[in-house]
Amino acid sequence: MHPLDKIKTEKDLQAYQGEGFLATTFSQAIGIARSNSMWPLPFATSCCGIEFMSTMGPNYDLARFGSERLSFSPRQADLLMVMGTIAKKMAPILRQVYEQMAEPKWVIAVGACASSGGIFDTYSVLQGIDRVIPVDVYVPGCPPRPEQIIDGIMKIQDLIKSESLRRRDTPEYQSLLESYNLD
Ligand code: SF4
Repeated sequence: MHPLDKIKTEKDLQAYQGEGFLATTFSQAIGIARSNSMWPLPFATSCCGIEFMSTMGPNYDLARFGSERLSFSPRQADLLMVMGTIAKKMAPILRQVYEQMAEPKWVIAVGACASSGGIFDTYSVLQGIDRVIPVDVYVPGCPPRPEQIIDGIMKIQDLIKSESLRRRDTPEYQSLLESYNLD
């Protein structure tokens, strides 16, 4: 069979392969590497953070996805996971942490509070973190089970694998940042 007849059609890797070789695009190779080596920064403020602890434990074992290395320094993290109720007073801190993370970076809003304020429709609670920073994936639930958090991580992995290396230079991405008044 001619090697070109063996084009792989898996959504995460389109490549030419034959006896002893495999060729793909630089963008896809980087995407696969990035998606399997995310360093999460857990911004946990309340109960959803407890679910995340369980997600990290041996039963659910987030290490299977290459994300066992939590980073409490924004400089090294590339996945901001916001878990819990975010008070309006805390919003500027969250934004500062986001700004300190280097590109490329992704954000998950874990649970109802981070996604929409949850049950706390009050003057003091931010009604969703997307009021202050862009969000890539929302995980529903109050609290979401660890399986749901893992599902959110897998959705981010899909996103990373399909993201063009040049996406962050596009006018669309720049205008998204401008809409949040971010550089
Ligand atoms: S969504 Fe529910 S479980 Fe999560 S922080 Fe809010 S109140 Fe707690």
